[in-house]
Amino acid sequence: MTIKEAQQTVDQWIKTYGVRYFSELTNMAVLTEEVGELARVIARKYGDQSFKPGEKDNMGEEMADVLWVLLCLANQTGVDLTVELQKSIEKKTQRDKERHINNVKLK
Ligand SMILES: [Mg+2]
Repeated sequence: MTIKEAQQTVDQWIKTYGVRYFSELTNMAVLTEEVGELARVIARKYGDQSFKPGEKDNMGEEMADVLWVLLCLANQTGVDLTVELQKSIEKKTQRDKERHINNVKLK
């Protein structure tokens, strides 16, 4: 699935099952909530915390939740994430193409 197809699929799902998009502010709050859920899993999996009884390692599911809400926000604000990601990659390449290679902390 391409990013464009992901945006289209989410848009079709919202129109079919979701009635309408939540407001941008609500989805921003939901995005923050989902990032927190992802952080909780990562804290338990890679950090010093351990999973509580009944909790599971659902890191991929939480990443997908984050992506879903981000796709919603992109759709409802008219952002083409394919274009924006390409621009971001170009920007990072221009800015950082030697920065990390020359970072002795990474060696
Ligand atoms: Mg979640």
